Amino acid sequence: MEIQDKDVKKLLETYKEISLLEKIKATLDWDLNVNMPPKGVHGRAAQSTLLTKLVTEKWLDQAFKESVEQIKTDSLSAEEKAIVRNIRQLGNFYFKVPKEIILEKSEVTTQAFVVWSTAKKNNDFKLFVPHLTKIVDLDRSIADHLGFEKNKYDALLNLYEPGLTTEFVENIFTPLQKELSEYISLVRSTPQFAKEYAPAKVYSSRSQRKLSKYLMHLLHYSHEEGRLDVSAHPFTTTLDRYDVRITTKYFKHDFRSNYSATIHEVGHALYELGVNPDYSFTPLEGGVSLGIHESQSRFWENMVGRSALFSEFLSPAFQSLFSDYSLTSEYLVHSLNQIRPDLIRIEADEVTYNLHIILRYEIERDLINQKIEVQDIPAVWNEKMTKYLLVTPITDSEGCLQDVHWSYGSFGYFPTYSLGNLYAAQFTHTMRKSIDFDSCLRKGELQPVLDWLRKNIHIHGGLYLPHELVQKVTGEKLNPQYFIDYIREKYNSIYNLS
Ligand code: MG
Repeated sequence: MEIQDKDVKKLLETYKEISLLEKIKATLDWDLNVNMPPKGVHGRAAQSTLLTKLVTEKWLDQAFKESVEQIKTDSLSAEEKAIVRNIRQLGNFYFKVPKEIILEKSEVTTQAFVVWSTAKKNNDFKLFVPHLTKIVDLDRSIADHLGFEKNKYDALLNLYEPGLTTEFVENIFTPLQKELSEYISLVRSTPQFAKEYAPAKVYSSRSQRKLSKYLMHLLHYSHEEGRLDVSAHPFTTTLDRYDVRITTKYFKHDFRSNYSATIHEVGHALYELGVNPDYSFTPLEGGVSLGIHESQSRFWENMVGRSALFSEFLSPAFQSLFSDYSLTSEYLVHSLNQIRPDLIRIEADEVTYNLHIILRYEIERDLINQKIEVQDIPAVWNEKMTKYLLVTPITDSEGCLQDVHWSYGSFGYFPTYSLGNLYAAQFTHTMRKSIDFDSCLRKGELQPVLDWLRKNIHIHGGLYLPHELVQKVTGEKLNPQYFIDYIREKYNSIYNLS
C-alpha cells in the first residue's frame, strides 16, 4: 500500500502512536491476566490508566481532530479513503462525547464491576440497581451525543459493528428466534435428546495442553508468532502484527471447554495474523469489526471443531492422548453437540446460543429507548427465558446478573456474537463452492481452508465495512437462512430427524 496524500500521511503519524500505545497496553493486560501476582494489581491499574489517558489525549489533540474533520477525500485512493473513514469512526467517540462523560463512565464502571461481582455472588440485583441505572443513563446520553437517524440504540451498535442498525438486527433476529425456538421444541421430543454424553474421567492439564498444541499445529497457528497460556477467561490479544497470543482454561473432568476455547481463540488469532502486513499501524490493521472477528472464531470452533468429519479424524488422537478408548468419533460428535436449553450463555450449545443473545439485545434496545427501566430487568429476563428457551432462572445470579458486560457499560456489544455465528454459516456456504471442505475435515488437512479465509477475508483487514465485506465475499447481504439451514442439516442427522 502506498500512501500518496500528504494529509493522510500526517494523520497516520499520529495514528501510529495511538496504535503503539494500544499495543503496549495490550501487553500489560496480557501480563495481568496470565502472569501477574495478585499484589501487583494496583500498580498495574495505575500504569494502564496512564496509557488510556495518553491515548485519549492523542485523539483529542486539536490539530489532529481538525485535520480528521477537514480532510478532503474526493481524490484519495480506496485505501486512503478507508483510512480516513476508519479514523473518523474510531475518533467519533472522542470527538462527539464530552470528555467529562467519558471520564465519568470510566469511574462509574470501575466501581460497578466490583459491585456486580458481589451482587452476582450474593444473588442481590438490588445492590446493582443504582450502579446500572447510572451506566444506562450515561449510555443514553452517549448515544445522544454520537447521534443516530432512527433509533437511539443504533449509535451504540455502531461502536462495535460500523453501519449496523436496530432495524437490520430486528429483521434478522425476529425470524431467527422463532425458527430456533421451534427447532428446540422439536429436538426435545426426540429419544436422542434424553441421552447424556458428559465426559466423566480425569483429563490431566498436561494431556489437554498437548491436545491444544496439536490443534494449533493442525490449524497452522505458529509458535513463531503466537503463544498458548492459561487464564481465568480464554482470550486472544494482539501485541503486534507478528505476535498474537491466545489463552485457554483446563477443566479436570471435561476436555470440551479447553478443546473449544483453543480452537475458538486460534480462529481469532489467525484472522489478526492474516491481515495485509502493509496495513500495520494504520486503522486498516486487525479485523474489521467484532461481528466479523467472531465469525472467524466461531467458524473454526463450530463448522470445523464440532463437525462429525473432524471428530472422526481426531478420535484416535483423543484416545491416545487421554488413554481413553471410549472417545470414539461417535462419542465425540455427540458430546460436542448436545442441545441443552439452559440458563447460562457461555455454556450454551450452537443452537440455543443465539436465543441468549436475542434476549439480551431486546432488553438493551428497550432500556436505551426508555421503554423499560433497570428495576424491570429481572422480570423481563425471566419472562423471555421462559418463552424462548423454556427454562426459568430461580436466582438472578443465574439470570440477569450472569454476564459482566453491562457493568462495563458495553451496551450494543452482545448482538455481534450472533452476527458472528450467522456470518460464519454464510461464509462456509460460499467456501464450499470453491474448495472440498468435507475432504479437508476428513483428512485434517486445513491449509486450503485457511488459504480461502486468508484470501477472501483476512487479507482485507479493515478495508471494507462489515456489510460490504459480506457482500463482496458471498455476493449478498447477511442472510440468516444459511445459519438455519446449517443447523437443520447438522442436527437433523445427530438427532435422527428427517
Ligand atoms: Mg470470541
